[in-house]
Amino acid sequence: MITISDLTKVYRARGRDVTALDGVSLHVEPGEVHGVIGRSGAGKSTLIRCVNQLERPTSGTVTVEGRDLTALAGKGNRAGRPLRRARGGIGMIFQHFNLLSSRTAQGNVELPLEIQGLGRRERARKALELLDLVGLADRARAHPAQLSGGQKQRVGIARALAGDPKVLLSDEATSALDPETTGSVLRLLRDLNRQLGLTVLLITHEMDVVKTVCDSASLMEDGRLTESGRVDDLLATP
Ligand code: ADP
Ligand code: ADP
Repeated sequence: MITISDLTKVYRARGRDVTALDGVSLHVEPGEVHGVIGRSGAGKSTLIRCVNQLERPTSGTVTVEGRDLTALAGKGNRAGRPLRRARGGIGMIFQHFNLLSSRTAQGNVELPLEIQGLGRRERARKALELLDLVGLADRARAHPAQLSGGQKQRVGIARALAGDPKVLLSDEATSALDPETTGSVLRLLRDLNRQLGLTVLLITHEMDVVKTVCDSASLMEDGRLTESGRVDDLLATP
């Protein structure tokens, strides 16, 4: 479902090169929840941003559902410019939710549907269906400021699902939440993974997240994946 081959990313910052990704290869099977765990600065965000085409890799390829996203990005497009069309099929959720405070929960979920060009009624129907799926049907008219952290992330998840993605990317989605809320958001991700067959690639600095929700995981250090495998095998003490 997701194949990352020999991915390298070098940032040029103030005359100095920073190698954020140094030959990363990873395969995530359809329907699998894969976690990339590592310390701050290891390169996790850069990796996920390359998969979502928010960042252009220096070399290497990212293939999602058989489509080489890096090849698309290279053809007649300015470097680093995200390609909306190519990103279809991928949803993303964020540590700080990235909701628009001026819009209701429903309005936030409708945003990607508006960009898709769906009509008003169809948008409303779909947004309410998605809010129901994440357990927030009764909060559709609430604004983000009126919602708890866990509820805000549920809205974020509903919005990420608006384009019917096969792949969901999660960038530290529970890092801003307390442990109990973290558990409930992770259970929701697990339920969606099972119900919709969603493939999930998540990054985290917390081992508990990997233990709770991931089938397989990789350890990232200094831009490299130093270990990869089934969570049960990785956690088994020798
Ligand atoms: P993580 O998500 O694991 O904390 P990042 O991918 O954010 O790691 O960062 C990996 C490395 O790349 C770090 O050394 C970081 O300082 C550097 N880096 C990240 N983004 C940029 C950027 N836009 N410009 C320069 N260096 C960057
Ligand atoms: P918070 O702790 O931030 O309030 P919760 O995770 O407790 O967020 O839940 C937010 C809303 O979603 C609540 O209305 C709750 O009843 C509902 N909810 C919690 N878990 C589920 C679930 N697995 N399926 C559907 N709805 C849920």
